[in-house]
Amino acid sequence: MARTPDVAPILLAKGVRKVYRTGAEEVEALKEIDLAVSPGEFVAVMGPSGSGKTTLLNCLSGLDEIDEGIVEVAGDRIHELPDGERTRKRADTMGFVFQAFNLIPVFTAMENTELPLLLAGQRPDFARERALETLKLVGLEHRVDHRPNELSGGEQQRVTVARALAGRPSIVWADEPTGNLDTETAERVMQLIHDLHREGLTIMLVTHDAKIAGTAQRLISMRDGRIEADEMVGATKPKPRAKAAAPAKKRATRTAAKQAKQ
Ligand code: ADP
Ligand code: MG
Repeated sequence: MARTPDVAPILLAKGVRKVYRTGAEEVEALKEIDLAVSPGEFVAVMGPSGSGKTTLLNCLSGLDEIDEGIVEVAGDRIHELPDGERTRKRADTMGFVFQAFNLIPVFTAMENTELPLLLAGQRPDFARERALETLKLVGLEHRVDHRPNELSGGEQQRVTVARALAGRPSIVWADEPTGNLDTETAERVMQLIHDLHREGLTIMLVTHDAKIAGTAQRLISMRDGRIEADEMVGATKPKPRAKAAAPAKKRATRTAAKQAKQ
């Protein structure tokens, strides 16, 4: 099931297990996860609610601890790094986009975007410059001084994308980033994510939306804490030729549609 990539993986998981313990109850949220993701891949993760998608992202990115196994991100065993180094590693190589916007309400778009850079110890003038540049990238240069409640849902989500990208990560983790958005706004956010992918970013994206999953290169299906299927669904090159990509894309949409029904 786990594929063997032809270049060194940017993300490698072996035998990862995660157990949540609440009182006397134990939930084995991840069971024996093996996974290798190559730099520049666009991976969609689907599966029924409770199948472990969010836990997978949290554990592979080192946001959460694991019970067994190893995870390497860009060459480092992430769970073996001391706290400070792990935080720095995340700031240097990863960006996060979640469904709950998680923006700080009293901060402006600019302040929200520059925060991770400041927390990572960057100079304030550098952080400001980079935040502005990134807000421009997501088309929000005219909203830099707005607070979240002065922005539309789509604009807020674009701030979270800017915040995720301000540190110029090599891998972006997105957990249902379009879950709260209307169709048109969701399409714009996905367009942005696709643009970034074309520029070389590795994407791990959890989605319920079969259409969105169908635009990824690879589809991982989770069920009951395991990777049930792992298949190439789109073209493997960042810029596919339309002719070659079409049948694969159709197939992906079908697979994804089947899953969405479950
Ligand atoms: P998904 O994102 O696919 O909906 P999750 O990764 O959130 O699934 O959850 C996987 C399983 O772990 C579920 O059974 C869920 O109830 C459980 N779980 C998730 N987070 C916690 C937690 N913090 N404490 C206890 N159980 C949890
Ligand atoms: Mg989830």
